Amino acid sequence: MMHIPGSFQLMKSLNRTLILNTIRTKGVIPRSEIAKLTKLTPPTVTNIVNELIREDLVVETEPGTSSGGRKPILLSINGKARFIIGVDIGVSGKIRFGVSDLNGQIVKREVKHLPNGSTSEKEFVKLLVTSLRALIGSLGSDKEKLIGVGIAMHGMVDSEQGIALWAPSLKFKDLPLKEELERALNLPIRVENDAKALAIGEVWFGNGQGEESLVCINVGEGVGAGVILDGKLLHGNDHIAGEVGHTIIDLSGPKCSCGNYGCLQAFASGQALKERALKELALGRSSVLQEKCKGDFDLVDGRLIYEAALEGDSLSIDVLHQTGRYLAVGILNILHFYNPGRIIIGGGVSKAERFILEPIHELVKKRALTPRSKNTRITVSELGEEGSLVGAITLVLSELFTQSISR
Ligand SMILES: [Zn+2]
Repeated sequence: MMHIPGSFQLMKSLNRTLILNTIRTKGVIPRSEIAKLTKLTPPTVTNIVNELIREDLVVETEPGTSSGGRKPILLSINGKARFIIGVDIGVSGKIRFGVSDLNGQIVKREVKHLPNGSTSEKEFVKLLVTSLRALIGSLGSDKEKLIGVGIAMHGMVDSEQGIALWAPSLKFKDLPLKEELERALNLPIRVENDAKALAIGEVWFGNGQGEESLVCINVGEGVGAGVILDGKLLHGNDHIAGEVGHTIIDLSGPKCSCGNYGCLQAFASGQALKERALKELALGRSSVLQEKCKGDFDLVDGRLIYEAALEGDSLSIDVLHQTGRYLAVGILNILHFYNPGRIIIGGGVSKAERFILEPIHELVKKRALTPRSKNTRITVSELGEEGSLVGAITLVLSELFTQSISR
């Protein structure tokens, strides 16, 4: 058995996490209020709070207002008492690293790119370990305050074992990330699929705060989703719950990277967007895209199409509107599978919100089954490009504060 630092284990007392999470969600709170909210006895609250103060996790702040008499001392989380590292491993070979405090504030960032061409699993793990060691080293004395590393990994992930089961763009299979990194770094490692991590991040820090049931769709090179139903993140029997990109929306549709025909991903991903634009260009339709890519159509991508659309380019606007309509079909299916209170769209394609959201709202209003579901809140992620990174950080935070991975 290897040694894992104790911070995680220390948090395992239910009352402790209950009190910690109550302080976190309230921001600042007096002891008496904690007792009321948690239904724990005042002496229990006092004991545990004293323990948390001794460990520097909780601090006393300025007195609150009180109607006469002594003003109560307020407690809050000491954000800088512990740190977490988040890692987001994207489809394109871009790896984002972030160091966060206990309030989810990212205090340090780094981006690395995998070398072009194929990388072996061994080289990949080596790059992760080297980068993480350098990042940890750069923290100085704060490295003693690290409690874990959360990893948002694209593709299929066994989050319990921390294994990247299948990462299509890197062609990795059954890579035991958790085991390898824990051995190299001697820190607790948590691994989750990127869309699922994003969903958790949204509930904690984004547009999903306060939602019990929410679906977060990541639309970029691939299309995946994290489904939180009644407060629980769904994994399914074989880790593929939420793979909405491979739900089939047209039996005679184009071939998908998975080998099937007509998957949502084959219509709505960044790649599908590019292909539709190229088809129109090949048919001779004029567009500022021709100038923008200087004749090299390989350079046409989602970002370029979005920029052109902003300039009023009708081809690009059409392509984005159509993507919105395809996404709307996928979203309608999701809505009728899960009936979430909110649907959040993240990933690169979500940047084009002003072109894709309208057709989505329109179709959902028209086609959803009930008056309330017609008005399901559908927004883009406010966490932006760092959504999955924030999610990766939340994997560790949620364990510290709630003992449950998703809430
Ligand atoms: Zn597919």
